[in-house]
Amino acid sequence: FFAGETTFVKGVVAMSGLPPADRAEICFAGRSNVGKSSLINALTGRKGLARASNTPGRTQEINFFERDDLYIVDLPGYGFANAPVAVVEKWQRLLKSYLSGRQTLRRAFMLIDSRHGVKPVDEEIMSLLDKSAVPFQVVLTKDDKIKEKDRDPMLAQVRKALSKHPAAFPELIATSSEKGLGLPTLRSTIHGLRD
Ligand code: GDP
Repeated sequence: FFAGETTFVKGVVAMSGLPPADRAEICFAGRSNVGKSSLINALTGRKGLARASNTPGRTQEINFFERDDLYIVDLPGYGFANAPVAVVEKWQRLLKSYLSGRQTLRRAFMLIDSRHGVKPVDEEIMSLLDKSAVPFQVVLTKDDKIKEKDRDPMLAQVRKALSKHPAAFPELIATSSEKGLGLPTLRSTIHGLRD
C-alpha cells in the first residue's frame, strides 16, 4: 500500500483556487507546532515536502498533494498565541468553506500533541467538523516525548473529549515521526480511503 510518489499539486488561499473534486481526498489539521509537517514528510518519505510551522501573519495556504489517486491536504496550523484577528478570521472562513463544500473529503485527521491532549482550540475545529459532517480521526503526535505515567491520563482526556463529537472515530492512532511509530497503521488507514 501507499506505493506511489507524492507530488505537490498547489497551495490554495481561496475557494476559487481549489483543484477539481475529482478523486478521494483526506486532510490533516492541527495546532501549529503539533508536528503536522514532520508527520506528512515521514508518511510520504519525502523530507521537506510539507513546510514546517507557518508563522502568524504569513499567508495561510491549504496545500494539496497527490498520491495514489488521492489528494492529501495539509490545512494551515491553527492556534497561534499571537495571531492577528484578521488572519484568524480569514483562516476560519476558508476552512469552513473548504470543510462544508468538499464532497470528496473522506476523512480529516486531527493531530493532537501527546503531551498536551485536546485543547479548546482543537475542540472548536472538531465542532466545525461535526457541523460539516466530515468524519475525523485523532492522530496523536510525538509519542516518543510522552512520559509513561502521563499516557493513560492523556488518553482518557482525549477519549472524553471525542465522546462529545459525533463525527469522531473512537480509534486513536499514536505516532512518532521521529521514531517511525504508528506510520504503517496511518498509511494503511489512508490507503483504505481511496476510491
Ligand atoms: P507543524 O507546525 O505542525 O508543522 O510542526 P512541525 O512538524 O514543524 O514540528 C514542530 C516541532 O516538533 C519541530 O521542532 C519538530 O522537530 C518536532 N517534532 C515533530 N514531530 C516529532 C516527533 O514525532 N517527535 C519529536 N520528539 N519531535 C517532533
